[in-house]
Amino acid sequence: MVAKVSAFAVLQLVLASSGLSAQSADPPRVWPDEGPFSWPPRATEPSIVADDLRTHVYQLAADSMTGRAAGTRGNFMATTYVASVFQRLGLRPAGDNGTYFQIVPVEGAEPNSPARNVIAILPGSDPALRGQYVLVGAHNDHEGLLSQALDHDALRAFNWVMRPQGANDRPGAPTREQQVRIDSLIAYARSIRPPRPDTVMNGADDDASGTGVLLEIAERFATGAAPRRSIVFISHAAEEGGLIGSRHFTDNPTVSLDSIVAAHNMDMVGNGGVADVRFGGPAQVQMLGARRLSAEFGDMIDSLNAVRAETMAIDYYWDRTNALNRFCRSDQVSYFRHTIPVTYFSTGYSIDYHMPTDEPQYIDYDHSARVGRFVHEIMSAVANRPTRLRVLPPEERDMSAQCGR
Ligand SMILES: [Zn+2]
Repeated sequence: MVAKVSAFAVLQLVLASSGLSAQSADPPRVWPDEGPFSWPPRATEPSIVADDLRTHVYQLAADSMTGRAAGTRGNFMATTYVASVFQRLGLRPAGDNGTYFQIVPVEGAEPNSPARNVIAILPGSDPALRGQYVLVGAHNDHEGLLSQALDHDALRAFNWVMRPQGANDRPGAPTREQQVRIDSLIAYARSIRPPRPDTVMNGADDDASGTGVLLEIAERFATGAAPRRSIVFISHAAEEGGLIGSRHFTDNPTVSLDSIVAAHNMDMVGNGGVADVRFGGPAQVQMLGARRLSAEFGDMIDSLNAVRAETMAIDYYWDRTNALNRFCRSDQVSYFRHTIPVTYFSTGYSIDYHMPTDEPQYIDYDHSARVGRFVHEIMSAVANRPTRLRVLPPEERDMSAQCGR
């Protein structure tokens, strides 16, 4: 954190002395990772690219979605958005009663705004294999609204110094030196813009980023030659309430669970830079679970990564240690408990984790696109293999993560 803040301070000095910020067309930024506050939506292209992700994430994480809490109007609007993209791509509905939606019961849902999984299928091209499925998912809900407004820049200044992993961190009171740094960051913010009281938990990284990548992967598959096996795209409901939507789907599957050969979950794939997380970088991806049920799955991913042009820096630290009980904290758990080989992809916990500052202007869209291209390539390889991934016999499985389910 010290290095991060001092680099930032140097940048301020450079800008102040050179007059660079005055020459720029963009308004001055408080935070070095801050992009524009708005992004006019535009037509997307078949490949998985940063601007398409901007189009999806700026809409899904807009204040008008009111934090997408499961069972609220905002979350309902987000699921409608996801279904509209599936429909535009010509994907086959795979929810209830011929729709894209599977209603997920949650407590306290607003009238006419049920929580919903959004599910679509791209049929495989090989008649002998299209009865098997490769699944990819992300979650469509987040934490809704705060009961009391917080000042955006002041909160981010505090977290910048005190909470590198956002709500995961429970820091004590700042030392005097830390308080000086926090105060100077706030003073800088105040010098270029007014305070911004904020109640919306936008969830741009968590998990509009994964949802955007899901839609980009869907578009990539739908516009190319179909793989041999079929693909299931699923936008899970009510993840934040305890993995409710993924559990509901695996308890009430709309495609037989036996026919799902592998699952891929993406949750928070937008904040993995050098300054965001430990071992971060432009091609970093944290991967969990790949070998827990199928050694072949993990081996295949590593081999593929070793020879592709855009090599990813895979970080297995969280899988090895299960620090912060990480493997048990997203929708992969629901597939794991049904012995479906599943890999969890994330760029990790950043300062905006479960904070009202988790907004679209802080997402690294180039990085998210890289993760998306990687997941798409893995899925293509799994979907086109002559044989299913081999599931390990029970005694060889890694059951070390105690997810209590
Ligand atoms: Zn999440």
